[in-house]
Amino acid sequence: VTSESERTSLRTALVSVGNELLFGETVDTNAAWLSRQLTEAGVHVVRGYTVPDDVDAIQRCVTSALGAADLVVLTGGLGPTRDDMTRAAVADLFGRKLFVDPERLVRLEERFRKRGFTELPEANVCQAEIPEGAVVLENPLGTAPGLVMDSDGGTVVLLPGVPREMKAIFGGDLVALLRDRYTTLMSEVAHRLIHTTGVPESRIADLMARDLPDLDRLFGDRASLAYLPDLRGVDLRISVRCSKDEDASEELDRLEALVSPVVAPWRFACESGDVSEAVLDALRGSGHTLAVAESCTAGVLAARLTEHPGASDVFIGGVVSYANEVKESLLGVPPASIISHGAVSEPVVRHMAEGVCRALGATIGLAITGVAGPGGGTVEKPVGTVWLAVSGAMGTVSETVCFAGDRAAVRERAAQGALALALTYVNQMMDEP
Ligand code: AMP
Ligand code: MG
Repeated sequence: VTSESERTSLRTALVSVGNELLFGETVDTNAAWLSRQLTEAGVHVVRGYTVPDDVDAIQRCVTSALGAADLVVLTGGLGPTRDDMTRAAVADLFGRKLFVDPERLVRLEERFRKRGFTELPEANVCQAEIPEGAVVLENPLGTAPGLVMDSDGGTVVLLPGVPREMKAIFGGDLVALLRDRYTTLMSEVAHRLIHTTGVPESRIADLMARDLPDLDRLFGDRASLAYLPDLRGVDLRISVRCSKDEDASEELDRLEALVSPVVAPWRFACESGDVSEAVLDALRGSGHTLAVAESCTAGVLAARLTEHPGASDVFIGGVVSYANEVKESLLGVPPASIISHGAVSEPVVRHMAEGVCRALGATIGLAITGVAGPGGGTVEKPVGTVWLAVSGAMGTVSETVCFAGDRAAVRERAAQGALALALTYVNQMMDEP
């Protein structure tokens, strides 16, 4: 446990209470929401727990959470029914008696009278109970108030589980209370994202270890690097913890400059992190038009490009050439190419990219043909084998990749691969005089 003077951040743990969360019936949106809000408010969230509606489990968890954090925020279990025991469990843990707040009881009774009840249901009386010495956070949307209890080990906050009530209390009284008490400990986190595609995260990690063996030292205590992979690529997120009025951009620039060379071959710049948008942005205003020819993706590529409003400035259309006959009749792929090399081959994908330019009158053609699986794989062309090509003023460029994953993953990755190939091609084309 760090002493008061050494502390530089408000370490916070979240505890979600409820059997329904552990059964998987209810998704724990409270923890995600609170983590985000607290982080934005400058609080350092260090732990997250989920526990059942059980006094012993709640008490053990709070004790353990207080070992890791200065502030523990619980949600759930403040309701009026027998399974709601958070209030009593935490009060008991700290040796505080619960007493009925007479004013609160009157207000509860009024509330129920307005809703047509002649008297307050016995079960609701507990919601007027306040542990000795607790600070009450008013709940503008419900009957269970939030509670703040201080102990030697740290501060514990209880919030109702109903998401809109929890949010109302958080945004109303709780943030203000935290700001009041912990101003000097509230820091901010500034982020920077580096988008990459076409490289697995393990490869990036290997290269990082090779090129930046002392990354931890270079990043220091205040900064961290996270890998955020999905089917489209890997985002690297650099985070820097800084004080409220400090500008972190210089530090972010320094760290970005360290990491950047390692991922340069796969990096693409685009605000949204979507390569399809980067392709459209690069071509917009250049007079170029883009068309696609898709076999195994059958429209995924066109859909990606048209997710963006204003895509029609650049993208003119596509051909879903699933059958060989369509590759031949609409795209002019020579039957001999298909017979001697197969539909998933370099000559065929190049003919597709060139053919779609001719067929639709585009200046740039982008093509995909591959084995999406689960069937259709062979020894030479296993499931996941994809050929990609882009064609235009600089000639035709093609490449093959064997993508991992199921049918959906191969199709998604193939579309992403084609877009990345197009972006490289277009950027080069724009650089040439
Ligand atoms: P409680 O305060 O435990 O009585 O919770 C009341 C209701 O809030 C539950 O029935 C859930 O629907 C919802 N709830 C409780 N905890 C969470 C949570 N962590 N995330 C989302 N919803 C929750
Ligand atoms: Mg509950």
